[in-house]
Amino acid sequence: MLLILVIILVAGIFYLTFNSKSNKIGNYIKVTVDGKIYGTYSLDNDQRIEIKTNEEEWINIIVINEGKVHMEQANCPDGYCIDKGNINKTNQTIVCLPHKVVVEIIQKDVKGNEVDDVVK
Ligand SMILES: [Zn+2]
Repeated sequence: MLLILVIILVAGIFYLTFNSKSNKIGNYIKVTVDGKIYGTYSLDNDQRIEIKTNEEEWINIIVINEGKVHMEQANCPDGYCIDKGNINKTNQTIVCLPHKVVVEIIQKDVKGNEVDDVVK
């Protein structure tokens, strides 16, 4: 069990490091829960997104405020997602590993399609 947690943590750190390279300001967030897309939300609209998982035991509250997004509240054991603070650049993420919640900044074009401008 502990080993699995460590592996997930290391993978998460690699993921975050990799994702911090891009620096374009995004206009949407994509929320993923347990690998499935939960929803996308415009950064232009200040809003509060409450996510309850694991039979409503796990709570994450994502807040969009003035074009930036942060994890307002979470009852996860580590609290790293809250420590992450505000993000607004494409490919930046807020990851709540214990709750498998990922908030990713994306760019959508006028038609609402996700722009994949990742250059490697
Ligand atoms: Zn968390």
